[in-house]
Amino acid sequence: MTGSRKSDINAEDVPVGKEVEQLKAVRFHEFGGVDVLRVEEVDDPSPGPGEVLVGIRASALNHLDVDVRDGTSRFPVSFPHTLGVELAGEIEALGEGVEGWSPGDRVNPYIMETCGECRYCATGRENLCLAPGFISFTTGGGYAERVVVKARNLIRVPGGVSFEEAAALQVAFATSWHMLFTRGNLRAGETVMINSVGSGIGSAAVQLAKIAGAFVIGNASSDEKLARAGELGLDAGINHVTEDVVARVMELTGDRGVDLVYEHVGGELFQKGLDSLAKDGRLVICGGHSGEVVPFDIIPFFRGQKTVIGSFTYTREEVASCFALAARGLIKPIVHRTFPLDDAGEAMATMERREHFGKLVLVP
Ligand SMILES: [Zn+2]
Repeated sequence: MTGSRKSDINAEDVPVGKEVEQLKAVRFHEFGGVDVLRVEEVDDPSPGPGEVLVGIRASALNHLDVDVRDGTSRFPVSFPHTLGVELAGEIEALGEGVEGWSPGDRVNPYIMETCGECRYCATGRENLCLAPGFISFTTGGGYAERVVVKARNLIRVPGGVSFEEAAALQVAFATSWHMLFTRGNLRAGETVMINSVGSGIGSAAVQLAKIAGAFVIGNASSDEKLARAGELGLDAGINHVTEDVVARVMELTGDRGVDLVYEHVGGELFQKGLDSLAKDGRLVICGGHSGEVVPFDIIPFFRGQKTVIGSFTYTREEVASCFALAARGLIKPIVHRTFPLDDAGEAMATMERREHFGKLVLVP
């Protein structure tokens, strides 16, 4: 999204329809708090060869957005930047050579823009692409009215799944799928502990682990969040602020420990997760907002023959699998609240206060 400029005309004066040359986007020109966000009119992008223009109907917030905005994401950010990696909408226009898609199709772009040719793309592991791009970094972002993406990155949204649910599904559920099943190898009858079940990916993991036949233990910072997770299938909840997580896990498992820990928090919960594992147990991890560099007690780790497994995003196929489950009503993306685009700052502030359960969604 280059060549952007501030609008010199009123939005009301612009004719409605394809002649509109500007779109509304929430951008920032410097790192900082929510006050660096600007609602601006920017040039409407047009799709090039192999690309489509998507009219955004819903865009979900992620904690990554906060890190990108305040400059701690460790991703290269160029200014001005439009946030938002996760969106759902309708195709409005096709670029040259696009086949298999039509205007009006309901779509959810894959979070990554992959090369399609490297050894990882060629073997169904495009999440590890050697030349990766990402929605909002190599395209426009989701905090906007429209975006251009590559047609081959599109995933079809099945009927019966709303735009808000579709926007809330991909990162939470496909990340969980990749962590629990592909990386963590969770099997029916195993016991899993999900850290921070009140978050988007935590609440999604509870649902997927439950339908996979696991006994699901989860922790959260409040009893209210644990009660909400109970409605999604959580078998046993631990308040990690008021209770000793490891002691409670041992009580719940007859001193055995859990087979798998689903970790995305970092800080103290990482070590508590390791200490909660049964012998030969696995801890799968995809995030560390509460502490990215942690002490690591080596002795009990190897004596218990434990495994730590890294996990990065997910594949298109895994997203499609989650959509299939949602279309059958077996999983439900949790939308805590929706906000108009103009209130993106309030939406981000709500997320940073950690008062929500499930996803916050912008509706342009
Ligand atoms: Zn690749």
